[in-house]
Amino acid sequence: MSAPDESKDQRVKQAEKITTHPEQYKVCEGCGSIVVARAVTCPSCHAYRFDATTERVVTQAKNLAKRSAHSVLSSDMT
Ligand SMILES: [Zn+2]
Repeated sequence: MSAPDESKDQRVKQAEKITTHPEQYKVCEGCGSIVVARAVTCPSCHAYRFDATTERVVTQAKNLAKRSAHSVLSSDMT
């Protein structure tokens, strides 16, 4: 029995952490995962090409958070 609300909350918190310190992360060009900057290959798809620009990392983190909890984010904007 898993709690979907809890994992959504986890994703949003993780996204917040990433947007606060985007220089510590990079985006996988293969699957779009956000991985830690020191990773050599992507743990999800084993690609070795990454986009480490902070702009890309922040955008991707927000997209992932939005996908899992859009209602929370839209209420935050008002
Ligand atoms: Zn990947």
